[in-house]
Amino acid sequence: AAKKVVIVGGGTGGATAAHYLRRYDPSIEVTLIEPNKEYYTCFFSNLVIGGLRPLDSIRHTYDGLAKRGVKVVHDTVTAIDGAAKHVVTASGQKFAYDRCIVSPGIELVYGGVEGYSADAEKAIPHAWKAGEQTAILAKQLQEMPDGGLVVMVAPPNPFRCPPGPYERASLIANYLKQHKPKSKLIILDPKEKFSKQGLFTAAWKKHYSGIIERLGPDFAGTKFTVDVKTKTVKCDAGEFKADVLNIIPPQRAGKIAQVASLTDEKGWCPVDQHTFESKLVPGVHVIGDASIAGKMPKSGYAANSQAKVCAMAIALLLNGKDPLKPAYTNTCYSFVAPDQAVSVAAVYELKNGTIEEVAGGLTPADASEAILRREAEYAKSWYNNITARYVR
Ligand code: FAD
Repeated sequence: AAKKVVIVGGGTGGATAAHYLRRYDPSIEVTLIEPNKEYYTCFFSNLVIGGLRPLDSIRHTYDGLAKRGVKVVHDTVTAIDGAAKHVVTASGQKFAYDRCIVSPGIELVYGGVEGYSADAEKAIPHAWKAGEQTAILAKQLQEMPDGGLVVMVAPPNPFRCPPGPYERASLIANYLKQHKPKSKLIILDPKEKFSKQGLFTAAWKKHYSGIIERLGPDFAGTKFTVDVKTKTVKCDAGEFKADVLNIIPPQRAGKIAQVASLTDEKGWCPVDQHTFESKLVPGVHVIGDASIAGKMPKSGYAANSQAKVCAMAIALLLNGKDPLKPAYTNTCYSFVAPDQAVSVAAVYELKNGTIEEVAGGLTPADASEAILRREAEYAKSWYNNITARYVR
């Protein structure tokens, strides 16, 4: 009988794994289970929030994967039985597997910001899962009067997309500068340091002087309390009453990972970083944001790279062969202005069972505008390539 792989979650990791499994071994039966008929990428969602792209431009369907022979099922996985080797869905279906891949992304820990909750996310969007949330935040910015205050509460480590809040801050500031020049953005940040900090702060000084202010833990502390009705955030630095409030709460692995006992005490999934097989449930592999992947950040590119390594390992294992020695890659582009971006890139290898960086670097601090413009072009090209998994 054909070998069966069931993939839980059709986001960046899951969709890439499905695509490559079909390429590496077309005899494997691949079933992808994902509740949504459309996937909105978080990458480039900050451009939508900043009014530089329509929401439609980050929407993708599953047609390309279906054409590749992936069985796409729109349902939610509610249980994974590692002993019986099957998954169960909300509609009551059971899918047997030889190997299972789980790429459920993140769950937001709303209570990490006191007073915040899932019920409040329409009034106070996190926009850390793209789609409706992206549209809400964009609309609130459009409807805000000139002279309004935007407040962002940034998350503690570890979280999805380390440079994401700061790219968002840049593009919100750009929007304010263009359309509501009397307005301001305050970032309340529980972290001492953040990704690409030097590059971001230089860009803010150059483009958004007087518009963005970031208060770190030395001043604002690390504990934030929100009054949902008045959109007021309290912290060590005082009270901030926002016109538009964006709370990005702490995070952990997507709920199904917790339910299926794939997580450790901190809420993330320990895996064998060679094959991404869970250290807790044999036969189940965890990739993407939910996994603990050594030095790799929680990014879409990382999820894509891990998906390829994992798919190749599974294709070999199901054919009675040993997995190869993998290499992993990541680049995170961040827009600092409509036509300018900065990046961090790295190549990784496995060392003593841990994914370690072996080469990499940042956009140079003294990069010319021509280079920053070229990086923005690279970012667009990267977007088209990474989302091709849904299209072709
Ligand atoms: P996801 O892409 O979130 O996919 C998870 C999928 O699983 C979802 O479709 C969900 O519906 C599904 N699912 C969950 N539970 C179940 C269940 N029980 N049953 C079935 N399906 C389920 N990364 C970059 O590389 N570059 C960037 O420029 C970049 N920009 C970003 C900007 C922002 C604002 C944000 C928030 C993120 C950004 N990222 C970026 C990060 C990137 O989006 C994530 O790292 C990536 O999506 C992780 O992929 P994943 O497969 O782990 O999770």
